[in-house]
Amino acid sequence: MKKTSRIYIAGHRGLVGSAIHRALTAQGYTNLLTRTRSELDLLDTDAVNDFFANEKPEYVFLAAAKVGGILANNNYPADFIRDNLIIQTNIIEASRINQVDRLLFLGSSCIYPKFAPQPMPESCLLTGPLEPTNRPYALAKIAGIEMCWSYNRQYKTKYLAAMPTNLYGPNDNFDLANSHVLPALIRKTAEAIKSNSDSISVWGTGTPRRELLYSDDLAAACLFLMNLDDSRYNSLLTEDTPPLVNIGTGEDVTIRELAEIVAKVLGFKGELVFDTTKPDGTPRKLMDVTRLHNLGWHHTTSLEEGIRTTWEAVRSQIS
Ligand code: GDP
Repeated sequence: MKKTSRIYIAGHRGLVGSAIHRALTAQGYTNLLTRTRSELDLLDTDAVNDFFANEKPEYVFLAAAKVGGILANNNYPADFIRDNLIIQTNIIEASRINQVDRLLFLGSSCIYPKFAPQPMPESCLLTGPLEPTNRPYALAKIAGIEMCWSYNRQYKTKYLAAMPTNLYGPNDNFDLANSHVLPALIRKTAEAIKSNSDSISVWGTGTPRRELLYSDDLAAACLFLMNLDDSRYNSLLTEDTPPLVNIGTGEDVTIRELAEIVAKVLGFKGELVFDTTKPDGTPRKLMDVTRLHNLGWHHTTSLEEGIRTTWEAVRSQIS
């Protein structure tokens, strides 16, 4: 990408898209194209085609999606598969018609089978049954990867799919009822300090392991992929494997270790009480990031550093 390239970030208000937008702005890219939902309805094929025809983006970050936790996925399965299929199809097709140079399609690690080997390599895609609770979302994302691959073969496009591990950062959802573990632990710890409580409740046994990637590191990885020289970029677009790259740290921690780091960063000296009436979920969810490491990218933000930055950014809102 040149600093003056026309770059469209679909979903620029979400956790992923906003981090990509921040990174591009910080690095001096001047031609960023964004539209809010009220300005451009991505479910509206004609509106998306008009937008592309008028703005002629050269690069597209496809970070727009209908996302949610286990509860939302359970209650609105039809919306999750339909909206995601339509949004990604509209953008991928409009990109083809308007000769977008490179497109990066963002998904998540839930595309991989429930009982995938750990760490999970890109090659385990479609080797086993999916986790049922988010299957409609995951299948839409898998269809998106297949579309990128098919378009590359048939139309000689250069579309790449990037699958990030669990993300965290300042724009996360800190609502205890449906947040993921890290924002939940930050919130519980902040509230315990505020109310002088000497313990916090951590769900499950504390033994499951999770990999966590700071949202700014994900954005850096996305820019790195978009900016790969032709020979390395094209090496990812082979006919015999999907154009797919995992994005993660390659490292994981136990939930107990995570709760301990949060306690250290926030200055909480109390006890961690494990509530084993709550579910542990998957014992381990770790990406195999060999492909990304071989391209030359590594994450730079340590978990403690990322949690500290997140806490500094949100402390006034949640404590
Ligand atoms: P998952 O990665 O899809 O399983 O989703 P979560 O991020 O919600 O949970 C990850 C792990 O953290 C599970 O073992 C949870 O039991 C554990 N956990 C511990 N405390 C909490 C909490 O307060 N909220 C959430 N969401 N998970 C917690």
